[in-house]
Amino acid sequence: MKYHWSDCSLHNMPAMPNKPCNCGGDAPPPKSKSNKLKEGEIMKIPEGKTKVKLMKSVSQSQLEIFDVGYIDGYAQAADERPYAVFVRVRDGLMDMVTINSVVAF
Ligand SMILES: [Zn+2]
Repeated sequence: MKYHWSDCSLHNMPAMPNKPCNCGGDAPPPKSKSNKLKEGEIMKIPEGKTKVKLMKSVSQSQLEIFDVGYIDGYAQAADERPYAVFVRVRDGLMDMVTINSVVAF
């Protein structure tokens, strides 16, 4: 149930045309929290995912050595080496890493 002040523009009629609410009674709910991680906020590791730490630097990747993340899937690249889809918990950055560059913990 919404309440409006008697002098709200919604109730201008008949003296003046009605206008959108100007008393705050229709105020939209506070903006929902954005899904984007704020600085310092840590992503939760989904249940059932393998928590890993990157033990090698990855070339052509923004991932850094000792980044903590989880494995979200596996793929085989053209070089036939098995790769893991690494999701960094700090910011959700995803990249492919060779399986032997991560350790589970
Ligand atoms: Zn109003």
